[in-house]
Amino acid sequence: MKPTAFDYARPETLEEAVQALGGHPDSKVLAGGQSLVPLMSMRLAAPALLVDINGLPGLDHVTADETGVRIGALARHADVLASADVRRVQPLVSLALANVAHPTIRNRGTTVGSIVHADAAAEMPMVLQLLGGSVDVVGSAGRRTIAADELYVGPLESSLAHDEVAVEAFFPALPAGSGVAFEEISRRHGDYAMCGVAAVVAVEGDRVTSARAGYLSVSDVPTVVDLTDALAGSVDDAALARAAEAALAQLEPETDIHASAAYRAHLAKVLTARVLTAAHDHAREE
Ligand SMILES: Cc1cc2nc3c(=O)[nH]c(=O)nc-3n(C[C@H](O)[C@H](O)[C@H](O)COP(=O)(O)OP(=O)(O)OC[C@H]3O[C@@H](n4cnc5c(N)ncnc54)[C@H](O)[C@@H]3O)c2cc1C
Repeated sequence: MKPTAFDYARPETLEEAVQALGGHPDSKVLAGGQSLVPLMSMRLAAPALLVDINGLPGLDHVTADETGVRIGALARHADVLASADVRRVQPLVSLALANVAHPTIRNRGTTVGSIVHADAAAEMPMVLQLLGGSVDVVGSAGRRTIAADELYVGPLESSLAHDEVAVEAFFPALPAGSGVAFEEISRRHGDYAMCGVAAVVAVEGDRVTSARAGYLSVSDVPTVVDLTDALAGSVDDAALARAAEAALAQLEPETDIHASAAYRAHLAKVLTARVLTAAHDHAREE
């Protein structure tokens, strides 16, 4: 199908972009177009004005230092995935990105676009939330930072105001003594996952001081669960089973055309044990 008719603007400054968005109640930012254009083609979205931000200067950066990783709104998934600095400073970003779609889509789609698109089946919103990251946005009221746990308010719904452009995402660096892991199950590599789980585990000697897991495709918003208590003793099969049950108690998997709720629950349990084990091993190497 073809999209309904729409107007198109390609501003050259952020101020012009904000003005164009604010001047039309039915406008939308166009970044990589890898989610918005298919939605428009299927007529599930019909914005009257597209504000293409691809002409804005200074938004394609990918930088990493001891504090964390900063990703500009025009950095493509492929740029972020190619960065050895990102992999070193916050390996979970790279691990998750390798599971985002196919190379052609990663060449055009932006990581910030994925984060603000707020799809609970997508990898990067969940990873941002699990790591306690944030997004910087600019709108008519100026610039502000939105913490990840205040960003996702409903299915495909973020807390950005209508005239706000997300300019940068921030992922904190992996602290010493911490480890990460990511696994997902999809029908084919590159498809949206039926369930995906990531974990961050921190250790001091033999003791787990913190264990958190993030879930995609099992709730209508990305979900993070604290599993520290379940892993407080030794990390053995019983503790992992306890953690998987504790996680499941906080998830509400649903049935859709891709998988039943029961199958999603099973995947969530199996993947929880796997990623906690792998993140724990990683933490002990760090
Ligand atoms: C076949 C296919 C498979 C895919 N598989 C996956 C997958 O497995 N996992 C996954 O995570 N994604 C997947 N995607 C989506 C892909 O990762 C997109 O790139 C991403 O979701 C959106 O980024 P974008 O830059 O293309 O955003 P766009 O499509 O341009 O925009 C998406 C939404 O975000 C808004 N937006 C974008 N950028 C900004 C900004 N800077 N400020 C404010 N609002 C903004 C837009 O207005 C729109 O509402 C897939 C896409 C396709 C077509």
